[in-house]
Amino acid sequence: MKIMANRMDRGFFRYQKEFEDKALEVLRSGWYVLGQEVKSFEEEFAAYTGGGYCVGLASGLDALWIAFRVLGIGPGDEVIVQGNTYIASVMGITMNGATPIFVEPNEFYNMDTEKIEEKITERTKAILVVHLYGQASKMDTVMALAEKYNLKVVEDCAQSHGACFQGQMTGTFGDVGCFSFYPSKNIGAFGDGGAVVVKDAKLAEDFRVFRNYGSEKRYYNKIVGANSRLDELQAGLLRVRLRHVKEYEEERQQIAARYHSEIHNEKLMLPQVQAGSTAVWHQFVVRCKERDSLISYLNEKEIGTIIHYPIPPHLSEAYQYLGYQRGAFPITEQYADEVLSLPMYNGMTDEEQTYVIDAINRF
Ligand SMILES: *Cc1c(COP(=O)(O)O)cnc(C)c1O
Repeated sequence: MKIMANRMDRGFFRYQKEFEDKALEVLRSGWYVLGQEVKSFEEEFAAYTGGGYCVGLASGLDALWIAFRVLGIGPGDEVIVQGNTYIASVMGITMNGATPIFVEPNEFYNMDTEKIEEKITERTKAILVVHLYGQASKMDTVMALAEKYNLKVVEDCAQSHGACFQGQMTGTFGDVGCFSFYPSKNIGAFGDGGAVVVKDAKLAEDFRVFRNYGSEKRYYNKIVGANSRLDELQAGLLRVRLRHVKEYEEERQQIAARYHSEIHNEKLMLPQVQAGSTAVWHQFVVRCKERDSLISYLNEKEIGTIIHYPIPPHLSEAYQYLGYQRGAFPITEQYADEVLSLPMYNGMTDEEQTYVIDAINRF
């Protein structure tokens, strides 16, 4: 049996008719950018998260860098972020000329919130929390520190649509919640897409102006903005996805529950969920000291896996200019050497799950 690490077609085929009807409806409408679909999606997504306002953007990376731009964070400013994130989180900071200050992760792969305070200086302007792999971070500690030191909080929710901390959805704690709708994300479009969720009406308006060349009214440009608009086709298709979001979420919970109860192999460390948090299992990430042999063993059985992520941002070529060497963040680096994401996708059949579980148990 051939099993890919991810299958984006399965989630589509389950509601094929609804997706195709919506695509045709938008194509035939004659209106393709900033219309009714985007407006409706923004309202529905804001309601889903429980946040105040949603503004659709072109990608998750745009949500991040525009967030720091709109918050006025730039050269000379420091932003605290976890070391073991996807590099886009860090690019959101550095595209504005600000400096990322890395914090080591905890055993749940999120920022170790006990290690934030020691990194705060007079240049610190914000904390960027990444709810990695779909598990909500410990937001009570983060928000208390933000209040104590008067810092902005930006949440990278590209992997955590629907995940909650103490019953509140990620993306609604801080000043800005940044979402990606890249096809492989838990709420995926059929191309690129992103959004921010904010509590403040004025801040929402700043994003609306910025995404459309800095104009409030056509051809009257208040600021130098960007072209970063979620398009009508993607917004319409995302509305279909959102209608079935509970079912997609439950399916991932069931796959994760089977992995947890049926994988028994001392060579693998299974992911844990911290008290107060929920996980939506964007990835099911195990750790293994013999990762390379595990990967080739699974490859022989035609089971695909992915490493999220093999090179931490501080050691990537792009960030050589920050001057970090190997050894600077030992936990981050250990995770990069040991993590492996098992197949996890909507529409993964029982037989496929069993095949993966049996193979791993025999490793
Ligand atoms: C996917 C991802 C992004 C970037 O989203 P895009 O829509 O691909 O630009 C940012 N942060 C994290 C943690 C991600 O997983």
